[in-house]
Amino acid sequence: MRSVSILGATGSIGQNTIDLIARAPGAFAVQALTGAGNIARLAADAIRLRAAVAVTSRDDLYPALQQALAGSGVQAAAGAAAVAEAASRPADWTMSAIVGAAGLAPGLQVLERGGTLALANKETLVTAGPLVMALARARGATILPVDSEHSAIFQALQGEDVASVERVIITASGGAFRDWPLERLKTATLAQASTHPNWAMGQRITIDSASMFNKALELIEAREFFGTSPERLEVIIHPESLIHALIGFADGALMAHVGPPDMRHAIGYALHWPQRRALPVARLDLAAIGKLTFRAPDPARYPALALAWQVMAAGGLSGAAFNAAKERALDGFIAGQIGFLDMARVVDAVLDTMSSQQGLQNAATSLDDIMQTDRLARIRADEAIARIRE
Ligand code: NAD
Ligand code: MG
Repeated sequence: MRSVSILGATGSIGQNTIDLIARAPGAFAVQALTGAGNIARLAADAIRLRAAVAVTSRDDLYPALQQALAGSGVQAAAGAAAVAEAASRPADWTMSAIVGAAGLAPGLQVLERGGTLALANKETLVTAGPLVMALARARGATILPVDSEHSAIFQALQGEDVASVERVIITASGGAFRDWPLERLKTATLAQASTHPNWAMGQRITIDSASMFNKALELIEAREFFGTSPERLEVIIHPESLIHALIGFADGALMAHVGPPDMRHAIGYALHWPQRRALPVARLDLAAIGKLTFRAPDPARYPALALAWQVMAAGGLSGAAFNAAKERALDGFIAGQIGFLDMARVVDAVLDTMSSQQGLQNAATSLDDIMQTDRLARIRADEAIARIRE
C-alpha cells in the first residue's frame, strides 16, 4: 500500500485526487489531508479515507475541526505551521494543490524530506523555480507536473532527447472572453469571469484563465520545470481544449498530447507514474469532434502574456513579485475594487516600480528572500489599486 497526502484536499484538484484514491480501495493509505475554510468537507473526507491527520490552515477553525472529527480517530490540527508539518510527515506521494503562494512552504517540506511531489500549485515554480529545482536535486526528491499542459509536455518528452527540442507550445482555451469585442472587456463582471468554457476549476484559476494570467504563470512554470528558454516557448489558442501541449523537435515533428479536459488524467498520470493505469476519464470520439482549431493570441486582449516574457527575461525575484501582484490584483477584482482590465495594469505597475528600486533580477538565495519580495509586491499592488480607484 502506498501512503499519500493531499495539501489543498478540499479544492478542485484536491477533490479530483480524492476521487481517484477513493476508487482504488486498499491501494492507498492516506496520511494527511489539508484544507482551509471548508471544515465539513475536510472532516468528511478525512473520516471516509481514514486519514491519520486533517489540518485546516485557519487557526480560528480549530475547535470546529476538532468537533467534526470527535471520536473518529483522525487527529486534528490547525494553522499554517501545522499545514507545513503535515507536509513533512512521511508519505510516498504528496499532492500540492493549495492555491496561491501559500502552497510554496508546504511543498518545500516535501522536497526537504526527499519525497515525491505531485505539483498542481503552479505558484511554487513561478515564485521560487531555481530554489525549488535545486532543493529537489539536492535531496533526491521527485517533482511530477500536474498542471495539464505541463503533464502533457512531460508525457510527450518521455523517451526523447531534450537536446532535440526546438519549441514547446502550450495551448490555451482563451477563457471566458475570447470572443468578446475588446471594448466590452472593461465591463466584465466577476460572475462572467468565473465561468470557463471547458474546464471546471477553482474560481481564482478560472478568472486567471479569462485574463490569461494563468497562461502567463504556466509559461514561467514550463521555463523553470523543463529549463526551456523563453524564446522556445509559445502559446496558441485552442478553443476545444483537447490538445494540452505540443513539442516541436529538431526534425520538424510535432508531438501533441491529446485528451479530454479532465484534471483526473494529469493527476492520475502523476499518481501512477512511471506506469500508466486505467483512468475513469472520457475517451475521445474523434469523428464526433470533427475538427480542432487554433488561433494566435491577441496581445491587446491578453496583456498578461507579454508580462510573462518580461518576467522570464528579468528572472531572479521577478516571478515572486509578478505572482504576488497578480494575487492582490485578483483579490481586488473579486472584491469589486478594480475592473477586469485593471488587473494587468496593477501587475505592470508593480513590476515597473520594483524593478527600478528592488533589484528584482537578483537570484533568490532563500525562502525569506521570496517571502520578502512577495510581501513588498502585495503592498505595491495595494498602492496601485488605490491609485486606480482615486
Ligand atoms: P481551489 O480554490 O479549488 O482549492 C484550493 C485549496 O487550497 C483548498 O483546499 C483550500 O482549502 C486551500 N487553501 C486556500 N488557501 C489556503 C491557505 N492560505 N493555506 C492553506 N490552504 C489553503 O483551487 P484549485 O483550482 O484546486 O487549484 C489549486 C492549485 O492547482 C492552484 O495553484 C491552481 O493554479 C492549480 N491548478 C488547478 C487546476 C484545476 O483544474 N483546478 C489545473 C491546473 C493547476
Ligand atoms: Mg493548466
